[in-house]
Amino acid sequence: MTDTRHPALSAQDPEIAALIGAEEQLQADTLRMIASENYVSAAVLEATGTVLTNKYSEGYPGKRYYEGQQNIDPIETLAIDRAKALFGAAHANVQPYSGAPANLAIYLAFLQPGETVLGMSLPMGGHLTHGWGVSATGKWFRGVQYGVRKETGRIDMDEVRDLALAERPKLIFCGGTAVPRTIDFAAFAEIAHEVGAVLAADVAHIAGLIAAGVHPSPIPHADVVSTTTHKTLRGPRGAMLMAKEEHAKAVDRAVFPGLQGGPHNHTTAAIAVALKEAATEDFRAYAQQVVTNAKALGEELAARGFELVSGGTDNHLLLMDVTSKGIAGKPAAQALDRAGIVVNYNTVPFDPRKPFDPSGLRIGTPSLTSRGLRASEMATVAGWIDRVVEAARDQDEDTIAKVRSEVKALMDGFPAPGLPVA
Ligand SMILES: *Cc1c(COP(=O)(O)O)cnc(C)c1O
Repeated sequence: MTDTRHPALSAQDPEIAALIGAEEQLQADTLRMIASENYVSAAVLEATGTVLTNKYSEGYPGKRYYEGQQNIDPIETLAIDRAKALFGAAHANVQPYSGAPANLAIYLAFLQPGETVLGMSLPMGGHLTHGWGVSATGKWFRGVQYGVRKETGRIDMDEVRDLALAERPKLIFCGGTAVPRTIDFAAFAEIAHEVGAVLAADVAHIAGLIAAGVHPSPIPHADVVSTTTHKTLRGPRGAMLMAKEEHAKAVDRAVFPGLQGGPHNHTTAAIAVALKEAATEDFRAYAQQVVTNAKALGEELAARGFELVSGGTDNHLLLMDVTSKGIAGKPAAQALDRAGIVVNYNTVPFDPRKPFDPSGLRIGTPSLTSRGLRASEMATVAGWIDRVVEAARDQDEDTIAKVRSEVKALMDGFPAPGLPVA
């Protein structure tokens, strides 16, 4: 079989070409519900696979250490200008390689080693880079961690304030990876001001929702905003930092030369394309539908006896404790994967189980919404999840196999952006 999609690659390296082809098939056939994933457009994909990968461009537009930047400077400037316009930011840096390095640049810009950072604890829904112990941010800085209230599953703002007053952090992070509710940036800013801390809002998961106006923006409240570009924002793998004008120099110096070398120009171009797409009415409708779908899915799952952390969602993700179904998160996630429904197992707040074998599942709607699924399909999706989780508990592989074929049949009717139509 000749691969018309990647002819040079198939000829040069059939092994890798075959694996990429198989991945295309997997992404086409499955219901992808990892909350941090998405499908980029064909235009974004094309931009990432260009000769821009051949270039070195250390520095910033107009201030480079290399010649030959005639095309790179306008590309990066377009990405910066689009980011500023889309989010209403005073300053944007589009060079961070990904979300974790972007966050490390924030530490480098504002903290000395050993100084204190207050962030949300990882098992409560925060990110490793918010001062968690195994991360460089928790080893080289003093991490103090807040969580959610047991009764509500929502961030405990009283605890945030009490910890801030007691520990006097230099930096406070808000945002997370498994936070199904709206983040109150204004409340975080008030606490940060009270203790003289820098407020960093890490909106990696919700950047697309913010761009579309379906989640409040941190821009008026935070000193610095970090985001990945590849989650709800639907761009290439990468990241951005946005900041108030007074912090522009510190942020830029931290990214380069503080932390990184040359920017990934193919990624910068693809970020620019994604930002152009995110400014459209179509994208606003998409982001709204992501939330509508997540809420509908949450209601359908709750009706089937699933326990949702915080009782539901305001955004693109749901976190649920599956132990009430008589199974743990990991075997449930593995069974769902066999059924073509791709999710991740996750800790739930106050999880009595171990992080590598926790009680919960995290599921999200960004990818399936990119394929055009709507609220009317969410009952079907919830029904599948319920059947598979119960089948896994009952060791009923026939049901799992049956759901696998139903998933494929449905997904065949919703072609994925950027993928070949079968
Ligand atoms: C995904 C994520 C990151 C890290 O992004 P990578 O690109 O995986 O390094 C950082 N913070 C939050 C809140 C995230 O969700």
